[in-house]
Amino acid sequence: MTEGKATVLVIEDEPEIRRFLRSSLGAEGYRVVEAETGTRGAVDAGTQKADLAIVDLGLPDIDGIEVIRKIRGWSPMPILVLSARAQERAKIEALDAGADDYITKPFGVGELLARVRAALRHATRGASGKNVLAFGEVTADFEKRVVKRNGDEVHLTALEFRLLACLAQHLGMVVTHRQLLREVWGPSHVDHTHYLRIYMKQLREKLEADPVRPRHLLTETGVGYRLVADAD
Ligand code: CA
Repeated sequence: MTEGKATVLVIEDEPEIRRFLRSSLGAEGYRVVEAETGTRGAVDAGTQKADLAIVDLGLPDIDGIEVIRKIRGWSPMPILVLSARAQERAKIEALDAGADDYITKPFGVGELLARVRAALRHATRGASGKNVLAFGEVTADFEKRVVKRNGDEVHLTALEFRLLACLAQHLGMVVTHRQLLREVWGPSHVDHTHYLRIYMKQLREKLEADPVRPRHLLTETGVGYRLVADAD
């Protein structure tokens, strides 16, 4: 599968949004398959050989979260959630149910394509993983455990390093508070979101040119964090 030839399944009941997705994704060379209901979409995910699914949370038959669970039951394909701003809690529930990222309505074409590219890249890169990541003034070598800023080594504590590595594994995509706490601190710490605030602040001070206005280690208010490398 090459990135531009991927099949994107759109599960969305609003015709205008489907039309927008079809034309924006189609213009980039993606094959777009549409489903108006959750039940139809969950079936199409398999029969249409989708590489990625975009799932609206408010569907007429079954809940979008249920659709995510159905797809996750058999497939690791990236799933992007479409949500309205009012669906904050549902968004987090969807991410915890196995969705990889979300797009809040209304959204622009640039944001949509960036999310789709990040998710497909994540899926194709798989377990082999790129071990060196560059963003802003930083290069991070996760195998050698060396992080440099403008060529000078930056000392990260073990927890800071794990936090950065966890965000880098999901490069360009949101990682929820719960997910970060579980992966970095362990399952008994999933409610300790204040740890994240403290450690993210430290990471930004060490790695961002302007820690107050971060360009790479981004906050997703109420949801989690996202590491964004240089714009492509
Ligand atoms: Ca809807």
